[in-house]
This record gives sequence, structure tokens and C-alpha cells, in this order.
Amino acid sequence: MILILLGPPGAGKGTQAALISEKYNIPHISTGDIFRQNIKNKTKLGLEAEGYIHNGLLVPDELTIKIIEERLNEKDCRNGYLLDGFPRTVFQAESLKKYYLGIKEHIDLVFFLEVNLDLVIKRNTGRRICSCCGRCYHVYFTPPKHKDKCDTCGGCLIQRKDDTESVILERLSVYLEQTMPLVDYYVKAKILYKLCGDEEITKVFENMCKIIDNCN
Ligand code: ADP
Ligand code: ADP
Ligand code: ZN
Repeated sequence: MILILLGPPGAGKGTQAALISEKYNIPHISTGDIFRQNIKNKTKLGLEAEGYIHNGLLVPDELTIKIIEERLNEKDCRNGYLLDGFPRTVFQAESLKKYYLGIKEHIDLVFFLEVNLDLVIKRNTGRRICSCCGRCYHVYFTPPKHKDKCDTCGGCLIQRKDDTESVILERLSVYLEQTMPLVDYYVKAKILYKLCGDEEITKVFENMCKIIDNCN
């Protein structure tokens, strides 16, 4: 099963992806997480991607496509996976299509999480992530038990560098311009499912599972 999660920054893609990955036992592949891990470890890829990410811009297509193809060729992807944050441009979607043609695979479902604009900003500004294990929290919606400490591993919670108000606005405008066209792209391919992302985490998850279970 190959699933894609599409939606604005802060829509809840990562949150839902973690739940789906656990329930259906498929890897959660987030290009954002791959980039952040590389930035943290100061790798060549991290150094190349850092400037774009911290300014709210997309990492160039060629680089992103190379990274994702390498990841998809790993063994754990043999029985499917969930893509979170890829593709983000029509060019990336076209490359992915060619890749699947080459290996005789196809995308099963694309979920589009629609979220009200004010809520998107609130979700991004209040997001905190664990500096050790990467688990995601929100200062209002899903706070940790102890302030700024991860419930799972006790690590310190930090704010992403691109979760400041000005960078969030830039990311949103990049999203509207470069990623929104993918909604039509996948509607035409007849694999897009629109979901209301304004609802509570468990409700969105329930709605997603119904669609997945119907597709199997
Ligand atoms: P994305 O991966 O789309 O950028 P995240 O999953 O990281 O989004 O969610 C952004 C923030 O909003 C996080 O702090 C997360 O805890 C919170 N969040 C996600 N989904 C919901 C929801 N349905 N209701 C309330 N808060 C949510
Ligand atoms: P969010 O959905 O909350 O904006 P992500 O973690 O998915 O966050 O992405 C963070 C940043 O990583 C993006 O703003 C962009 O700079 C970069 N990035 C992630 N995925 C891609 C992609 N498919 N193409 C180009 N850049 C990407
Ligand atoms: Zn942690």
C-alpha cells in the first residue's frame, strides 16, 4: 500500500502519518524529517538543504527526488509506505510517476488535509518537537505532561527554526503556489480524498482509516 499525505504546513500530516504507520505497519517517510536529521548531523545534504528550509523555501527538486528515491529503494519499503511532505511540486509528482512506471507500482491513495488558515498558523506557532526522539507536541492542543519535556524520552522540547511567524507565512505562500496544484493533479488521477483537518486528531485518523480499509 502506497499512501501520500498532502496539506499545508501544520495540517497534521506528520501526526496522522505516525498513527497510520503504527496501525498499518508501514514506514512513515517524511522528507522534512530526513532533511532535519541531516541538518542536525551536519551532513553534506544537511548543509545544502539548511538555507532553503530555514527561509521557508523548498529544497530544489533534483536534490529532493534523489533523496526520496534512495529511501524508497530501501528494504523496509517493499510492502508499501506513507509519504508525508513528498511530492510538493508538480515536477516531483511527475518524477514519482515515472519512478513507479519503471518499477510497476502505483499510488493507492492521496489524502488531502484541508485546514482553516487561522488554525494552520496556530498549529505551526505552537508546535514543539523533541530534540532527542522527534516526537511532536503542541503547546495548546497536545501539551507534554511536564513543561518542555518529552513524555516518551524526557528529551528537551524545541521549536523548529522555520516555525516562526514570518517563515510560516513564507511557507504558506510557497505551499499555495507550488504544492496546491497537486490537489487538481491527483483529482484528475482519481486517487485524491479530501479530509477536514480542522477536526480532532482522533477524528481525522478515524476518517482516514475508513478510507484505507475500504480500499483494501
Ligand atoms: P504537518 O506535518 O502537516 O506540518 P504536524 O503533524 O506536525 O503537521 O502538526 C502541526 C502541529 O499541530 C503539531 O504541534 C501537532 O501536535 C498539532 N496537531 C496536529 N493535528 C492536530 C489536530 N487535528 N488538532 C489539534 N492539533 C493538531
Ligand atoms: P511542514 O509540512 O510542516 O511545512 P515538513 O517537515 O514537511 O514541514 O518540511 C519542512 C521543510 O523541508 C519545507 O518547508 C521544505 O523547505 C523542506 N521540504 C520538505 N519536503 C520537501 C519537498 N518534497 N520538496 C522540497 N522541499 C521539501
Ligand atoms: Zn522524545
